[in-house]
Amino acid sequence: MLCIACATLINGIYKGENIITKKRLFSFFILLFSIILTANHAQTVKANSKINDYIIQNKIQPAQIQNQEGTFSVWQGYRYGVGQPEGIVVHETSEANVTAQQFTDRFNSQWPTLETYVHAFVDNNQILNIHNTDYTVWGAGPTANARYIQVELCRVDSYDAFAHSLANDAYYIAEKLIQYNMPDVAGQTVLSHAQVSNLWHETKHQDPTYYFSTWGYDMDQFNALIATYYNNLKTYGNVNEDNPNIIKVRNSNGLAVPIVGFNGDGSLHDITSPELANDSVWYTDQSKEVNGVTYRRIATNEWVAETYKI
Ligand SMILES: [Zn+2]
Repeated sequence: MLCIACATLINGIYKGENIITKKRLFSFFILLFSIILTANHAQTVKANSKINDYIIQNKIQPAQIQNQEGTFSVWQGYRYGVGQPEGIVVHETSEANVTAQQFTDRFNSQWPTLETYVHAFVDNNQILNIHNTDYTVWGAGPTANARYIQVELCRVDSYDAFAHSLANDAYYIAEKLIQYNMPDVAGQTVLSHAQVSNLWHETKHQDPTYYFSTWGYDMDQFNALIATYYNNLKTYGNVNEDNPNIIKVRNSNGLAVPIVGFNGDGSLHDITSPELANDSVWYTDQSKEVNGVTYRRIATNEWVAETYKI
């Protein structure tokens, strides 16, 4: 897929060539191209939530997804086939202080009598994938089972643990959406069990609505966290957008982001053409501060003010 910035470059609107040597330009293109190929039209969604802010500002690092294949022995493809899930259902276990491992052990020994099984259990420390997500489980009624991956969030009893458990859950969901090349669309590819119950009335469960509310949290906030992780994973390869050399820019007051160049005496001049496309992603190798503004270098003598970084 071609990003705006890339199309702009190819269309020759970017006119910085005269100040970049050909060799530099070539390596610059290669770099930019590799960044853009991974960017894939990602957007950073600002999570409008205190807990999301806590997770993002503290750069909470999710646990690794552990594949711990369980005992569930029903190998059934989704309605469109094996390896064709259409989204993910978000559950919570409704039971206090039982860890992901404890739930896994219980389900592995009791699923034939409980007549329920899920793909994964997540708590504040672990992400346990217990059934290959190419195949269905029994989590939310026949219609949803035939369509969706099912993940259970375990209850925890502290704010920090809750934040970690959300980070793990959002990471698992974002990774699964990406693994199966699904878009992240709240209510379509990511549904709460409550939404599933209300759509098809095959179950009455309303999780995770109540549990989230006890923390002042809701599905909208969780969807914002999932979107942030999904987009960061696609753009930067990790949930926390922590490649300091890669920036994405946007001018909220205009169609493009202005850039500047520095004169020999250290003063700066505006470069009116080119400008950078909104939401384009750039590799920067230097920064400098002038009059209290930090500028990030994107080409030999082309700099963008960090205030445009999103
Ligand atoms: Zn549920």
